[in-house]
Amino acid sequence: MKVVIIGASYAGIAAALEVRKKQPDAEIVLLEKQATLGYIPNGLHLYWGNEINDLNAAYFIKKEQLEKQHVQYCLEAAVEKMNTVNKTVIYLWHGQEKMTTYDKLIIATGSSQLSQKISGSGGESVLKYKRHSEAVTALTKMEMSQSVTIIGAGQVGVEAAYLLSKQQKQVTLIESMDYVLFKYFDKDMIFPVQEKMIEAGIDMQLNQTVSAIKAEADLPVTVQFGNETVVSDTVILGVNVRPNLSFLDEHIQLHMDRTIAVDRYMRTSVEGVFAVGDCIQLNVGEGNETEYIPLVNNAVRTGIVAAANLIKPKTAFVGSLRTIGTFLFGYYIASTGMTEAESVFSGRKVKAYHQEVRLTSLPDADTVTIKWVYDATSHVLLGAQLISTSNILEKINTLALAIQTNQTLEDLQQKEYFFHPSFSQLISATNFISWQEVRDDGNEN
Ligand SMILES: Cc1cc2nc3c(=O)[nH]c(=O)nc-3n(C[C@H](O)[C@H](O)[C@H](O)COP(=O)(O)OP(=O)(O)OC[C@H]3O[C@@H](n4cnc5c(N)ncnc54)[C@H](O)[C@@H]3O)c2cc1C
Repeated sequence: MKVVIIGASYAGIAAALEVRKKQPDAEIVLLEKQATLGYIPNGLHLYWGNEINDLNAAYFIKKEQLEKQHVQYCLEAAVEKMNTVNKTVIYLWHGQEKMTTYDKLIIATGSSQLSQKISGSGGESVLKYKRHSEAVTALTKMEMSQSVTIIGAGQVGVEAAYLLSKQQKQVTLIESMDYVLFKYFDKDMIFPVQEKMIEAGIDMQLNQTVSAIKAEADLPVTVQFGNETVVSDTVILGVNVRPNLSFLDEHIQLHMDRTIAVDRYMRTSVEGVFAVGDCIQLNVGEGNETEYIPLVNNAVRTGIVAAANLIKPKTAFVGSLRTIGTFLFGYYIASTGMTEAESVFSGRKVKAYHQEVRLTSLPDADTVTIKWVYDATSHVLLGAQLISTSNILEKINTLALAIQTNQTLEDLQQKEYFFHPSFSQLISATNFISWQEVRDDGNEN
């Protein structure tokens, strides 16, 4: 069996390695447009944060690891067309058109930082840096710039704002919502971060939608939003990414947002063709609702699921909780599952509760603030948000598991955890509140 995988980043590589485990005799071929494979998309942030001292260190896999698994790869191979009737893929390799056949095809071409709504956003002065070559260009350009406008206060935009303000750059951040990181946090939880952003001198332009970017080579860039404009040396496009799918044939069904429609087994509308990672929408929760959630953990997990289902549908994707964690402006912040703000669209009665928990039993212990979002009737946990000046990020993974396994608040109180006074508290942060009297739903009087 010949398995062709288009795109050698998180989803494609995860799929390739899993196919090898499941199909020891398969011929596996990865086709990748870039000259390198396995670049970490926020490599530039790692560099700006002094966590690596060379962009060449921002790779999550080495070619040798693929070779050891007998996975073939062809770099600088840009797929231009596919034919799902003949089962062929056409790609451009060093100026030559090449063709390969497949028995099974996995589309893992991911996404790019693009905007169709902002005129001029494709220009060279508008920095995008998901790929290694883009990051090299952005690094040079940013070193020569004193002022920067960042469009979009999602994870990429706010991280960039943090790292560049630390370098004393003059930062303007434009966001169409009325607060930052709205996909992952409720306003009340992210407020301390937003305050620190203002203290750091960031010009926060909330409730503002960018319409146009005007730039000429080597001149300052003008960004237009509403009736206002801001001029800076450079611009970063931090808006949501869009899938790279210009090569698809007409038999592959798409959603309205041009992502590929797949079922829970990662099967597309064409037999033998799968799609994974940033190319697709994902199930959120148990129903049929799907959403575009371009995150690494989803890319890896969908790659593994596709590999498991190549021959017949065996393993369904459990869904995504949009779990994230990062460090910004002095705070470790993490989120999983439903926010209170989005719960109004869920059709269920939802309650939220804030809790501040000391992290250890030591006198100078730091605290974590937790927001619990749960079903008002069943008490099943639906979402959680954490913020602390200590590194509590790993705790979000316990809470994601609790949501994935439908734990109630009462189940969480029973969850076993270790106790050691140096590292934990009487009540663990992920145990949920044990003091019933402060929980209105638990107070039977
Ligand atoms: C700046 C930035 C920082 C991010 N940081 C995080 C983070 O910290 N945590 C997190 O969870 N997510 C993060 N993300 C999101 C994350 O990058 C994506 O979810 C993830 O990379 C998706 O993996 P993928 O394999 O599906 O696609 P991609 O990583 O987009 O990879 C697709 C691959 O396919 C190749 N390709 C595309 N078209 C073709 C073609 N026609 N022929 C051949 N090859 C092709 C591309 O060159 C690329 O290598 C970040 C995104 C950005 C933009």
